[in-house]
Order: sequence, then C-alpha cells, then structure tokens
Amino acid sequence: MRFQLRINERTARLHGCEVIASYSDNGVSASKEGVVRPGFERLIADLVRGCTDGGQRIAGVVCVADDRLYRRAEDLARFLAALTGSPGRIHLDQEGVRDPYSREGMMQAVRSLDAAVTETRVRSRRLTNWHWARAVEGVPHSGPRPFGWLEDRISLHPEEAELVARAIGERISGKAVRAIARSWCELGVTGTRGGRPNGQTVTQIMTAPRVCGYRANRGELLLDPETGVPVLGQWEPIVTPEAWQAVCATFSPGSLYMHRGSGAPRRTGSARPAPRHLGTGFLRCGAQGADGRVCRGAMCAQKGRSKRSPYVYSCGDCGRCSISGPLVDAALEQMLFGGRRQGALLSESSRHRWRSDEMPLEEKRGIVASALCHCVIHPGVKGEHAWDFSRVRPVWR
Ligand SMILES: [Zn+2]
Repeated sequence: MRFQLRINERTARLHGCEVIASYSDNGVSASKEGVVRPGFERLIADLVRGCTDGGQRIAGVVCVADDRLYRRAEDLARFLAALTGSPGRIHLDQEGVRDPYSREGMMQAVRSLDAAVTETRVRSRRLTNWHWARAVEGVPHSGPRPFGWLEDRISLHPEEAELVARAIGERISGKAVRAIARSWCELGVTGTRGGRPNGQTVTQIMTAPRVCGYRANRGELLLDPETGVPVLGQWEPIVTPEAWQAVCATFSPGSLYMHRGSGAPRRTGSARPAPRHLGTGFLRCGAQGADGRVCRGAMCAQKGRSKRSPYVYSCGDCGRCSISGPLVDAALEQMLFGGRRQGALLSESSRHRWRSDEMPLEEKRGIVASALCHCVIHPGVKGEHAWDFSRVRPVWR
C-alpha cells in the first residue's frame, strides 16, 4: 500500500499533478460480488460531488493499475460515469494520461476489465481444481488396498507397515533395493495383488508419498495453494516426511513413485525445486492475441541460446513472448535500487549485501515479492537484440 501511494505520487508529479486525497481498500476483494469497498465508495462519492472532504477540487484520478480500481463491469461503469460527470478530468496511470471522455479511453478501460475478469476466472478455476483434487484424494480408491494398510486404507497393517518402515531405514543406510525385495520374498511376503515383490514394486512402495501421510494427485504432491505446505491424508503414516524425503533421495527421479510430477523431492527437503532465477514466478506475458486480449500467462525460465542470454523467460501459455533472463533480472534489480525516476526502495545495508553477493537468492526473491505484484513483459521486436528495459513493466504492490 505504501508503495502504491508513492508510485501514484510520482506518476502525478511527472504529469504536473498533485495527489490531494488517497483511497484504498487493502485486503478487500475487488472481484467478489456483494463486497463493499469503502475506499472505492468514497472515491465515487467525491467524484460525483467534485471535491474531497477537505473541499479541494478533483481534476482527475491516478491509480497504479486499472485492476486495483475495478474488476467488475458495474464498478467500471460507476467509476467512468462519476469521473466524466464533470468536464476536463483525466485518468492517470504509469502508462500515462488517458482521456476518459474519448472512445479510446473507454476501450482501454474495457480491455483492462476484460483482462481482470479473465484473471479472476483462471484463478478461481485453479482453486476449483485444487478442491476437486483434494476431494478425490480423500475418497478411498477402488482396487487393491495399498501395501502397508488395512482394507479401510486408514489403519496400518501391522506386519506390512513394519516391513515398509524397516525397508526405508535400510535403504537410507545404503542397502540395495533388490536385496530388500529378496528378503521380502524369503519371508513369503506378497503384494496386495498377490505378486512377488521385486526391486521396482518395493521402490514404488517406499517412495509413495502416502508412507509419510502426504497426498498426491496425478504424480504431484497436493500442496495448499495458500501456504505451499503438503496436504495430509487421513490415514496413519508409516514414517516421517523427513524419512520419506531421505529415501526418495536415494533413487534417481525416474524410478520414484512421483516420477511423473514435478513434486519429486530432493535432499534439501523442499517439495518443489527452488527457483534458480530472480524473476521466476514474477513475470506475466504481455503479448496480445488476435482478439486484442493480453495473454498474462506465467513466464518460466528456460535455457537460452546466446552467451549474453544463457537463460530466457518464456510464456508457457501462448509462446509468443520471450525475453532475455539476465535482462529481466537486471531490470528487477534496477527497479528495487531505484533509478532516477524513483526513490530508493532498499535500505543502504540491504543494497550493500545484495551487490556484494552476500544475499542468498531466496532473500532477494523475498524482497522482489514484497515490492512487486508482478511484471508484465511486453513482446520484443523480431531481430532486435539490444536490451530494451522498457519491455519490463512493473506492477507494484
Ligand atoms: Zn503468452
């Protein structure tokens, strides 16, 4: 919020304007129906009245991005009507001045609304998928029970669970998986389908996330979208998550139970591989489709082809936008360090640690996340290889 006001004040200054009142609805959803946004309501009332509470005349509105102002058609209609209710007003944002009375100004607002609505829809679909996966995983599967549990699939099978726990311990201390399978055969153990244990089945049993209580769906750990923490099943676990991670780390990713998903654990203990680049997760595709819609797809780091750009960020959705990785990371750094147009966002000591490479990547990424919602990456010009920093457009928090 603090950042948004500073950005707005800067934008206003750049256009010879002054911020005389600020309106915010921190933490209030702009997309949900029936939610009252007191800040927005106050803005509309002031626009209609023509002045602030203090009696100062309002000549326009400045905002960081349209989707902070409206995410619903009703709100856009009310805002435009209130803003244009008096003549000569302007609408300002980081892209510049807009004429809200013109057709183009209105079309621009409608395009922003469209993008915001699409984004809301995609986000809610993601959440729906997550809840669905959770529900599906909560229901006992048909087919044979998992090795180590009773028919209720919740209570442990005393002997099998004991075998699995011991096997995991032995494997972590270096025993060959074929030797474990052989010893199971000698004990007369059979799988829940009646088959004789072999290296592969034993590996699958030991590395299934359910042994430590984690749920998985289609080869991926089920993570809470808010916290990123793995979701636990209702069944009794056989070993701790640490033991499960340790045993998984003794196998090559291809032989793991989870081999199809990206959730394959590593020794570091994180369920997902940690991002290796500053910009990962913060970039949205700014390419426009034939229908004029902005893609807004997530851009992921990939191997690049030139020395100058050993990695690039590319849109995974439309594939029409790609940008040099080092360019983006340098641009992010520049934004946080503050260029000529902007006050410093980082303390002196943080700058020093960042520059001297004492700061771990995760900490840097934390700083980026605290200042930026994301950056929109505008598509480059074909054949143009010079770095163009203006392609990286920040959306500040
Ligand atoms: Zn795209």
